[in-house]
Amino acid sequence: MHTEGTAGPVTATHCPYCALQCGMNLRTGPDGGVEVEERPDFPVNRGALCGKGRTAPAVLSSRVRLTQPLVRGRTGRLEPATWEQALDAVAEGLARTGRSYGQDAVGVFGGGGLTNEKAYALGKFARVALRTSQIDYNGRFCMSSAAAAHQRAFGLDRGLPFPLEDVPRTGCVILVGSNLAETMPPALRFLRELKDNGGTLIVVDPRRTRTAEQADLHLAPRPGTDLALALGLLHLVVAEGRTDEPFIADRTTGWPEARAAAMAHWPELVERITGVPVPRLREAVRMFCAPESAMVLTARGPEQHSKGTDTVGAWINLCLATGRAGRPLSGYGCLTGQGNGQGGREHGQKADQLPGYRKLTDPAARAHVAGVWGVDPDDLPGPGRSAYELLDALGTDVRALLLMGSNPVVSAPRAAHIEGRIRSLDFLAVADVVLSETAELADVVLPVTQWAEESGTTTSLEGRVLLRRRALTPPPSVRTDLEVLHGLAARLGVEKGFPTAPEEVFEELRRASQGGPADYSGISYARLEAEQGVFWPCPDGSPGTPRLFLDRFATDDGRARFVPVAHRDAAEVPDAQYPLLLTTGRVVAQYQSGAQTRRVAELNAAAPGPFVELHPRLAARLGVAEGAVLAVVSRRGRAVAPARITDAIRADTVFMPFHWPGEGRANTLTNPALDPVSGMPEFKTCAVRVEPA
Ligand code: SF4
Repeated sequence: MHTEGTAGPVTATHCPYCALQCGMNLRTGPDGGVEVEERPDFPVNRGALCGKGRTAPAVLSSRVRLTQPLVRGRTGRLEPATWEQALDAVAEGLARTGRSYGQDAVGVFGGGGLTNEKAYALGKFARVALRTSQIDYNGRFCMSSAAAAHQRAFGLDRGLPFPLEDVPRTGCVILVGSNLAETMPPALRFLRELKDNGGTLIVVDPRRTRTAEQADLHLAPRPGTDLALALGLLHLVVAEGRTDEPFIADRTTGWPEARAAAMAHWPELVERITGVPVPRLREAVRMFCAPESAMVLTARGPEQHSKGTDTVGAWINLCLATGRAGRPLSGYGCLTGQGNGQGGREHGQKADQLPGYRKLTDPAARAHVAGVWGVDPDDLPGPGRSAYELLDALGTDVRALLLMGSNPVVSAPRAAHIEGRIRSLDFLAVADVVLSETAELADVVLPVTQWAEESGTTTSLEGRVLLRRRALTPPPSVRTDLEVLHGLAARLGVEKGFPTAPEEVFEELRRASQGGPADYSGISYARLEAEQGVFWPCPDGSPGTPRLFLDRFATDDGRARFVPVAHRDAAEVPDAQYPLLLTTGRVVAQYQSGAQTRRVAELNAAAPGPFVELHPRLAARLGVAEGAVLAVVSRRGRAVAPARITDAIRADTVFMPFHWPGEGRANTLTNPALDPVSGMPEFKTCAVRVEPA
C-alpha cells in the first residue's frame, strides 16, 4: 500500500523486530532518506511504537551496514569480493564438505526473523539443494517448549489461539515470565484496558519488573520453579472445588492422571519450592477462578528451561481444569518473541518439520511437499539435530555451515563453547546486514537487503499473516536472501525451484502448506494488501481463523489432552561453590543479540552495556556498591559487568540482560541443558557465584 504525499511516498508496513509486528508507515524523501510515521489503522498497536521500531530506519543507512561481499583471503582477513566470487566460494565450500564427509556434514542455521518466504526457501534449499538433514534455527531457543506443549495438549501450535484484542475483555490474566513493558511496550495497553474494564492481572516473575508493577498480584517464585507453582495452583483449584467438571468431561482426556499429579503438590510443599507464600497462592486461585473467563499467557520465563514443555503443560492443565480453554475470551497463549517466530517455525527451517507445520516423519506430509517440490519423497532427508545440538556438532560431525539471520556467538547458551565450535568449522558462510560477531568468523560474508528494501510476509504472535512491503531501493551491491539461495542452488546444480520474487515463493508456500496444520492456501499477497492481516489456518476460500478451538481442539478426537507433570529441580541448583541463581532477559532498547540495535546511536545511549542486577542484601553481603564491577561465574565461564542494585529482585537471584558480546556476554554463563521434548536450552536459570571483579 503506497500513497503519495507532498513530502514523499508513504508505504504501510511492519516493524522489523519483535513478534508484535507493529504497523508503521515509512515516508521516503527525495534524498532517499526514510522516516517512520504512525500507522493508526493497524489494530494491534494503533500507531504506537517502541524506541526500537521508531529508530529501525537507522540501520538502513548505517555506515556499518554491509554493502559488499567479503571473502577471507590469504592474509586471513575478510576482503571485498564480487558476488560471483563470493557465491562461487560458498557453493564450493558447501559442496566440497558434502563430497568429503557426506551431505549431513553440511549444516544450515536460520532465524526467527526471516520472512515466511525465506524460512520456506531455506528449508527447501537444505533438503533439496544440499540434501542435508542438518537444519535448525534460533527459534528453538525462543518458544519451542511452548510450541511442543501446545501440540501435546491441543494438537496444534499457534502461539495465541485468539487475537490480542480479546485480552482486555477477559476477566483475569495470569502473565507468566513476560516483561511486556520491556519486550513489546505497545502491548501493555491490552493489560491496562483489561484493568480499566474491571479485569485483574496476576504477574509471575522473580523480578518486580515494570510489567509486574502493573499487576494486582505479583508472585515472585524462585527461578526454575514455575512448574511447581502451576501445580500448586491446580492443587488448590481441586481442593477448593473450583474445577469445571462438565468441561473436563466433554472436552478433555487424561484428567485423572493430571489431577493425581497436581494433588501430590500440596500448597506448603509448593511454598517451600517456590518461595511464594500459601496465602498468595490462594489469592491467585481466587482471582483466576472468580470471573467467567480467564487467560494464562506465558513467555520466555517459564519456557526457557530443561523442563519447559512440562512447565507450560502445567499452566495449560490449570486452564483446562477450570474450563478456561476453547471458549470465548479464555485460553492459554504463548507470547512469541522474534519478529517471525511464529511463521518461522511453520515453514520448514525447523529440524523436524516441513512447510505448513507438517511433520517430516509423516509419509503423507513428505509425499505432499515432495510433490510440490518436484522431488521423490524418498530423497527427502529425515529429521536433524535441534539448534543447540547442531551448534555443538560444528567442527566434528557438521563441518560446514550456512547461516542466515542469526548471531549464535552472542545468543546461544554456553556461548564461549559454541563460539569455539564455530571457529573449528572447515567452512562458514554468513548472510547478514551487519558484520555480527558470528559473521566476523565467517569465510564468506554475504550482504543482504533489510526489511524495508524487500517485500515478504511474517506471521505475528497472534497467528496473523502480514505483508511487509518494500519501501526503498536497496544499495546496488546487496542482494536478497532469496537471490542468495537462488544463486547457490544454481551453482549446486539445481537450476529451478528457487525463485527470487517473494510473491512467487509465497504462492508455492501456499500450495506446500495446503491441507497442513498451518494452512495458508487461502492467503495471497492481494488479500494481504487489502486486509489488516489474515489469521491461519486459512484454507482456500476461508476468511481465516482468528479464534481457535471454540468447537473442538485439533487432536484426533477433538478433545484437549491433560498431561500429568511433576516438579523437578532445574538442571543446576545452587551449592556451596555456586550459591546464587542467574536468570537472563531483555531490556527495552535492545533486541536479541543486539546485532542491529547496538548499531543505533539512540538505543545504545539508552542501553549501552550489560549489568548485573542484585538485591541490596546481597550487595551488602558482597560489600559492593552501585556501579561496582562484578564477575559472575558459572561452571561454563565468567562474565563481567557493573552492579545495579535494586530490591526488585529476589535476594537469591541475579539478573543479566544478554544482548552484548565480549566480557559482559551473559550467555557465556548459561546452561545448555536441553528440554527432552522440545530441545529448548535452560537459559533462564543456572547456578553462579558473584564476586567483585
Ligand atoms: Fe517493533 Fe516490537 Fe517495538 Fe512494536 S513492540 S515497535 S514490533 S520492537
